[in-house]
Amino acid sequence: MDNQTTLIDLSHTVVHGLVTYKGLPAPVICDYLSREASRKHYAQGTEFHIGKIEMVANTGTYLDSPFHRYADGKDLSQLNLSKLANLPAVKLRTDKPAVDASCFRSPGDLRGKAVLIETGWSRHWNTAQYFEGHPFLTEDAARILSDCGAALVGIDSYNIDDVEDLRRPVHSILLGSEIPIVEHMTNLSELPDEGFKFFAVPVKVSGFGTFPVRAFAAL
Ligand SMILES: [Zn+2]
Repeated sequence: MDNQTTLIDLSHTVVHGLVTYKGLPAPVICDYLSREASRKHYAQGTEFHIGKIEMVANTGTYLDSPFHRYADGKDLSQLNLSKLANLPAVKLRTDKPAVDASCFRSPGDLRGKAVLIETGWSRHWNTAQYFEGHPFLTEDAARILSDCGAALVGIDSYNIDDVEDLRRPVHSILLGSEIPIVEHMTNLSELPDEGFKFFAVPVKVSGFGTFPVRAFAAL
């Protein structure tokens, strides 16, 4: 990257007490060691803060690895960086509540790319509306993305699957094809339709399927 590169943040801020997913607990953010309490460990005028966070994996803008869905799937620590960073990317903007295969007019161009779906639903983040009637991908959309070899799929909605469909076909198909998923993205309206790179790198935790990411685009 050089100084011609523009970075666009596509992540929500993780905030104490803010629920990402209805029914899952909000993060608890507190001091482990406060600045005041740290002073006795250091020289005069020197202090530090050590924070503590308690959260479920599905907090803020996060990435799902295959292990989220499948016990024998790759976990966060087993994902190659080449699947998470510096990915050539495209954005698809749609007003459809159910984003189906017909929305992908030239799937041949998606091979090896991060495919980001802009629904605009992130405008409801941190409201009760966010949890109700969200846009999602259909099973046939997931199949076409898998068949065409997409590298990663992201969405600015509450769930990439219809929460009414308890089979969760989109998670099942994409994660079954080792295609990571990023959910609860924001700010996708700032992106062009193509010609940028996408990054969404979670912490390298073993035996863990999902983790928050600082998702961003480089133009
Ligand atoms: Zn998910």
